[in-house]
Amino acid sequence: MFDWKQDPHRRYNPLTREWVLVSPHRTQRPWQGQVEENTALTQPTYDPDCYLCPGNPRVGGVRNPAYTSTFVFENDFAALKPTTPLDRFEQDGLLIAETEPGICRVVCFSPQHNLTMANMELPDLRKVADTWVEQYEELGRHPLIRYVQIFENRGAMMGASNPHPHCQIWSNHRVPNEVAKEQVSQRDWAEARGSCLLCDYLKLEAAARDRIVDENHSFVTLVPFWAVWPFETIVISKRHHSSISGLLDAEREGLADILKRTTARYDRLFQVSFPYSMGIHQKPTDGPEHAEWHLHVHFYPPLLRSATVRKFLVGYEMLALPQRDITAEAAAERLRSF
Ligand SMILES: [Zn+2]
Ligand SMILES: [Zn+2]
Ligand SMILES: [Zn+2]
Repeated sequence: MFDWKQDPHRRYNPLTREWVLVSPHRTQRPWQGQVEENTALTQPTYDPDCYLCPGNPRVGGVRNPAYTSTFVFENDFAALKPTTPLDRFEQDGLLIAETEPGICRVVCFSPQHNLTMANMELPDLRKVADTWVEQYEELGRHPLIRYVQIFENRGAMMGASNPHPHCQIWSNHRVPNEVAKEQVSQRDWAEARGSCLLCDYLKLEAAARDRIVDENHSFVTLVPFWAVWPFETIVISKRHHSSISGLLDAEREGLADILKRTTARYDRLFQVSFPYSMGIHQKPTDGPEHAEWHLHVHFYPPLLRSATVRKFLVGYEMLALPQRDITAEAAAERLRSF
């Protein structure tokens, strides 16, 4: 077999059925690109100008309540509206458009402006997990909503406009691209093998150990074999659950714990409040049972070599194929050591 610590190779992502190019021999290449300003300055616990802090006015005039735990509100700049009527346009199979009704919400994790998941107390983070379950179920019951995407953009580098700890929930009528790809792969795997793709993958990783970063009683964090981002991870439930709805009490606690551990590890890696996009992937709320779906969380962080050196997906990656230098195994080893 070839040496995947040295030889350029491609790795296959069985969830999306896409490939990533790995060039491990290039890791010593000198860097001459952009240097990011380290903006991890200490934030105040309350910011009078923050539209997410308790008691503050938001754009449009609504004032936040003096909330003391998690706080959910409808996004003032919603990308989707529940009142959009269903309609479709098609011309010659080339110009195709569909209306897309949906509901967008914001979840403040904490009233405290300067917290992140990594430094929130576990019971408070558990409340965030409970809120996710409530929102997933409530939005999923809406007859127009067929998929509920919970995600967080953390850090200015990822385009997050506000450091106040919060996530967004975009729920909509049609299953989005990334989710649709993973759904087809998981369904085909289940049909062909009579088992679950991610249950089988987790078994393999648990035996190999070299890509596992952290774990607790109910979740595992690992750098997937097919990772694109340098320190990309996937958090997978140890038991087969198709959504966060099925999580037992202890597993909701476990979810809060593994997210805290994982983000704290990221922060320690480059001594910075680590930027990332994080999101929960789970079964659509379109009716069927979707036993093929296995609940997981993706972390896509952009940092490459330090708090100031980031990875870009440009050039060859936009036009051909994503590429990485350090291997998934080397990234996992580094994350494990912090
Ligand atoms: Zn705030
Ligand atoms: Zn499974
Ligand atoms: Zn996924």
